[in-house]
Amino acid sequence: MERKYISDESLKTFINQLNDEGRHVYAPVAKGEKTEFERVKSFDKISLDHIQTTQSIKAVAFPRTEKLFSYTKNKGDVTLEDYNPDLIPEMVVFGLHPCDAAGFKPLSNIFNWGTPDVPFNERRRRTTLIAMSCTQSDEFCFCTSVNGGPGNTAGSDILLTPIKDKNGYLVEVVSEKGQELVSKYAGLFGEAPDVDKEAYLAKLSRKFSLDDLRGKISHMFESEVWKKQSERCLGCGACAFVCPTCACFDIQEDTKGSKGNRLRCWDSCGFSLFTFHTSGHNPREVQSQRWRQRLLHKFSYMPERLSVVGCTGCGRCSRACPVDMNISDHLAEIADLSVVTTEKEK
Ligand code: SF4
Ligand code: SF4
Repeated sequence: MERKYISDESLKTFINQLNDEGRHVYAPVAKGEKTEFERVKSFDKISLDHIQTTQSIKAVAFPRTEKLFSYTKNKGDVTLEDYNPDLIPEMVVFGLHPCDAAGFKPLSNIFNWGTPDVPFNERRRRTTLIAMSCTQSDEFCFCTSVNGGPGNTAGSDILLTPIKDKNGYLVEVVSEKGQELVSKYAGLFGEAPDVDKEAYLAKLSRKFSLDDLRGKISHMFESEVWKKQSERCLGCGACAFVCPTCACFDIQEDTKGSKGNRLRCWDSCGFSLFTFHTSGHNPREVQSQRWRQRLLHKFSYMPERLSVVGCTGCGRCSRACPVDMNISDHLAEIADLSVVTTEKEK
């Protein structure tokens, strides 16, 4: 992997020039006490002091609401206006952390399981990720427990690590997309400093062993632990809406007269209506079954079927939860169980 250096000043020029050439640049922007990704047209709007944005940046590839196609009904005939990928701009996400960059892999595996999803793939193809290593963390972060790390390059096209004493950044060029940008603006990049990147990263100890967790969780469908852990869960869905890897969606019709749009909208397996059948039957009747689905999907079904863990340890779900459900505490509890006893085995 090629390593380079970019100064604070040259980074501003780099990001501003990406905007000037017509790319939509998304970056963290301070909003009162929160920081959120939004489109920026100047580097001066960007805030890089945050630990984590409230929302992830998955919406660049999987928007909260997206029109899949439009239709017009006319005396028994229907005219379709199909999804048009040409309307998707070239996008750059700047300043996302490694846990968000890593989140695009689980999303991609979900959206390409069986039939490849055109909207997701087209958006992802037009998106370049210029990520920023983490120099600070909080009690909710647990990337090191799920194969990640504060300086993990997986998923990024370019990863920057702030090197404060050099007034700039170590640049790791991870992908071909990243290489293209660095080559195009070669004059802004210099020789990589001789530094140990680890010395500049946040220190984050592991909260649980992923192997121990995975060895146990897939045998726990009937366990009583789900009831115990989810007793205070409200089913509000906040955890899914902030998550960089959650991909549940619903299909809605938006019609007016003879015209209509078919929309894909974020949904959550934590909602009681998510599995509610028109017959009135709900296979996940109670919240403990929905909590179990959330954890089994991420840590058992996805690794088995899609060869990827469905969580990057960003901690957003725990920060956002109105009743302080902390996913890493719950996962550590499962990983530490000495004997997994299921109802059926009793
Ligand atoms: S955010 Fe908390 S209360 Fe809401 S569904 Fe998720 S775990 Fe339950
Ligand atoms: S489940 Fe929670 S910690 Fe894991 S990726 Fe989603 S929001 Fe982040």
